[in-house]
Amino acid sequence: MDKTNISVVGSIALDSLKTSKGNYDNLLGGSATYFSIAASKFVPTEVIGIVGSDFPKDCWEIFDRKNINSKNIVEKNGSTFRWGGEYSDDYSSRETLFTELGVFEHFKPNIISSSTEGGILFLANIQPSLQLDVLNQMKNNVSLVVSDTMNLWIDLDIDGLHNVIKNSDIFLLNDEEAIQLTKESNLINAGNQLLRKGPTTVIIKMGGEGSMLITENNIINIPCIPSIDVFDPTGAGDSFAGGLIGYMAKYGQDDVISAMLYASSIASFTVSGFGIDKIINLNLNEIKSRVEILRALIK
Ligand code: AMP
Repeated sequence: MDKTNISVVGSIALDSLKTSKGNYDNLLGGSATYFSIAASKFVPTEVIGIVGSDFPKDCWEIFDRKNINSKNIVEKNGSTFRWGGEYSDDYSSRETLFTELGVFEHFKPNIISSSTEGGILFLANIQPSLQLDVLNQMKNNVSLVVSDTMNLWIDLDIDGLHNVIKNSDIFLLNDEEAIQLTKESNLINAGNQLLRKGPTTVIIKMGGEGSMLITENNIINIPCIPSIDVFDPTGAGDSFAGGLIGYMAKYGQDDVISAMLYASSIASFTVSGFGIDKIINLNLNEIKSRVEILRALIK
């Protein structure tokens, strides 16, 4: 397979989802899955991760069909990572019903990366010790490190997470996590506090309220596509990151606002269906058409 421009480590999961629009079990999910499906619309992308012996054949085929490099996804005896989540009726909150790390618990990646020299590394949401392991193996070969996390790791491994943040150029998190992590109720203050820990850019995702870019010199709000009929918000954040970094890998890192508009556009498709349903066959032109809607909103 050809060289890749983006490498991602994160979860590859079988998800059980409950929303007011329906319940589904064993859907292909995981932070690395959503991310790589979005990013691979822009440039070749490789996934570093692990699945169990129960990982369905048709899920493997999804990576192959989308040309996502899976040479660094290992299969081990045991269970694939499983996560269950239930959303409130208005999608404003989510309860984790269970997290079963399965084969991820003892995963020690031995990466033979297909990444080009100077590629981008995305440390998607997974335990910080694993993010750091991958970072250490790849840091000399990449030009940009971007990371994400979730509340579980703020609770379970705050030191590891701080180490991840310190070593990231761009750090993404959602509004609740920003407040929990920094103990600041104001998101701008939270972002500024995180900037002092190492990254040059912090992006706070605010669900239906859009996202906020915080750098030393700028604070910019990016909207969501209005009036989307939401079915399942799972993976919105990961596919947002895939759009953001996919854009940067393809078009360069200078125009962060455009990158965020692409990110927001892709996330709007993700939430319109269950699991990866609405993004798997999405093409760049469909993504661009919503980017234009968003551009008109920020004029
Ligand atoms: P998001 O909705 O963007 O927060 O991402 C949801 C995805 O994250 C789901 O597909 C889950 O499988 C995955 N996920 C949930 N909890 C964790 C966790 N603790 N570590 C890694 N991935 C997780």
